[in-house]
Amino acid sequence: MNKAFKFRIYPTDTQKTLIHMTLGHNRFLWNKMLDDKQKHYELTKGMLYNRPAQYKDTYPFLKDIDSLSLANTQLNLEKAFRMFFRRKQDLPKFHSKKQDYGYTTNFVNNNIVLKKGYIKLPKLGDVKIKQHRTIPSDMSIKNVTVSKTSTGKYYVSILYEYQIEIKKQAVNHSIGLDFSMNHFYIDDQGFKMDYPKAIQTDFTTLRILQRSLSRRIKGSSNYQKKVLEIALLHERIRHRRDDFLHKLSNAIAKRYELVSVEGLNLIEMSKTNPYYAKQISRFGWTRFISFLKYKLAKEGKTLMTMDKWYPSSKLCSHCGEIHTELKLSNRVFECPSCRLHLDRDHNAAININREGLRQYKLAFQL
Ligand SMILES: [Zn+2]
Repeated sequence: MNKAFKFRIYPTDTQKTLIHMTLGHNRFLWNKMLDDKQKHYELTKGMLYNRPAQYKDTYPFLKDIDSLSLANTQLNLEKAFRMFFRRKQDLPKFHSKKQDYGYTTNFVNNNIVLKKGYIKLPKLGDVKIKQHRTIPSDMSIKNVTVSKTSTGKYYVSILYEYQIEIKKQAVNHSIGLDFSMNHFYIDDQGFKMDYPKAIQTDFTTLRILQRSLSRRIKGSSNYQKKVLEIALLHERIRHRRDDFLHKLSNAIAKRYELVSVEGLNLIEMSKTNPYYAKQISRFGWTRFISFLKYKLAKEGKTLMTMDKWYPSSKLCSHCGEIHTELKLSNRVFECPSCRLHLDRDHNAAININREGLRQYKLAFQL
């Protein structure tokens, strides 16, 4: 199992310069390799397997930084391309200076050591760290991601590996969750989990700020002030959202042994229903699912994701009839066969829970 710990670091000016250089060179390599991969893809429809070493002669400055970070950039790009080939993601995008990125370096020969108040990192040496929690002694470091936010803060995310034996838990309580248009989700008991109000208010403020930014002269000091204000708000939204997602996933993973969720294809969705897709990404549904998955797995519990073809909304949870004529605008499910009258998403959540249980029993031959 893996577990990541994130801590704020306080690099010296020299260390900051080196971090910026490493981030910049990695961004450069990402964009170069991506460009070559895209050209190759246009010609052959296949993936180009290019390596950082091929670029070091033409761009010798790449030799100045942590070479493991370049290897990780290459791996991440390849991973993004594989997701694209499996139609799970759009083509990877070029990295811009304006966004927050980190670079990842791996643990080899004690090159990364966490000490009291400091972390030793390759090339950087000892960097001051605010370690607000201790790491269990049976965990070993796998890699570290160093990042800088657009608001000027620096962080390390340390990924640890550890061995544990997990016993599969018997399913006594199960739950089905349906992502809903107007709520974060509806469960199979008809309970509606709302989006946190504070985040919704933040999004409204964000829209106002962005509008006011567009009226300012690019590059002026007022413009820069707004840019920073927007970055800070983005940061606050991320914190609030993660807090919400962590608390919620903790509570669910504690109570249920089996959680079943709808399978979503965000790319397809953003084409057919952009508003829906935007809501999903805004409130971090995908992130929520990944939190749930590892929190459940840690305790020998299971997350079931429905196949995207599973007709959770169109199936009557009472008599099993499928009603293909149901539109997204029909908020109530009315079954012409058995006269069931139920909230559309509640009906879907019941189906998801039931189908999850069925698949679970099949998979584990219960
Ligand atoms: Zn029915």
